Amino acid sequence: MTKRYSNYESFFALKPTSLTVDSGTINVIYGKSGSGKSTLLNILGGMDAPTQGKVMFENKDLYQLNDKEQSMIRGKRFGFVFQFFHLIPELSVYDNISLPTQFTKEPLEEKDIVTIAKTLGVEQRLTSLPSTLSGGEQQLVAVARALINHPDIIFADEPTGNLDSYNSSKVSELLETLCKERDVTLVLVTHDKDLIQSPDNLYQMEDGNLQLIRK
Ligand code: ADP
Ligand code: ADP
Repeated sequence: MTKRYSNYESFFALKPTSLTVDSGTINVIYGKSGSGKSTLLNILGGMDAPTQGKVMFENKDLYQLNDKEQSMIRGKRFGFVFQFFHLIPELSVYDNISLPTQFTKEPLEEKDIVTIAKTLGVEQRLTSLPSTLSGGEQQLVAVARALINHPDIIFADEPTGNLDSYNSSKVSELLETLCKERDVTLVLVTHDKDLIQSPDNLYQMEDGNLQLIRK
C-alpha cells in the first residue's frame, strides 16, 4: 500500500509498503516525527484509506467493506490508544471505559468495568471526571477502554508521548503485559525504539519507508 495526502504533489507519506501482522504478536514501529508512523497506523486501523493497496483483515479488504461493517470492526475487534488520551471530558471514568461496549450485543456488566479498572489500578477513580486525573491515570483509563471489548488488535499511536518517564514505563509495561496475557495483537508506533521491552517485531519508519529491524 501507499499513501499520498495530495494528488497534486509527488510526496508519499507512505512509500510502497507491505506488512503482515501475525495474530498475538507485539509489533513496534519507531521513527522520527513526520516519518509516516501515524499514516501507517491509521491505514491499518481502518481510520484512513490508503491511496493504493489493500488492508486485509480476516480475508476481507477493510476498505471494501461498507461504513457500518468498518465501524463494527473498529468498535468490536480493534482497540485504540492515542497520545492525547481522547477521553470524553463530560463522562466519568466509568462511562469512558464502558463506551466501546455500546457496540456489543450484550452490554458488559458493572463488574467487568470494575475488574478492568482494578487491573489498570484506576478503580478508585471510577466516578471522577478525566480532568481530575493525572496524565498517567488518564492513559491507564484509555488502555482500560481499549481492552474492555476483548479486541483482537490494539493500535497505539505514541501512547506515552505525553507522559513523564515514570508513567511512560508504567503504561508501556502494562500494555505489553496485558496484550501478551490476553493474546491481543499490539501495533504500537513511537519515537522511542526501546519503549517496549521485547517486541516480536521491531520496525523502523524513515521518510515513508518501513524496514524490519529485528524479529
Ligand atoms: P509521524 O506519525 O511519523 O509523525 P505522520 O504519518 O503523521 O508521521 O506524517 C507523515 C507525513 O505526512 C508528514 O510529512 C505529515 O506532515 C504528512 N501528513 C500527515 N497527515 C497528513 C494530512 N492529513 N494531510 C497532509 N499531510 C499529512
Ligand atoms: P501524531 O503524529 O501524534 O498522530 P500529528 O501531530 O502528526 O499527530 O497529527 C495530528 C493530526 O494532524 C493527524 O490527524 C494528521 O493526519 C494531521 N496532519 C499531520 N500533518 C499534517 C499536514 N501536513 N497537513 C494536514 N494535516 C496534517
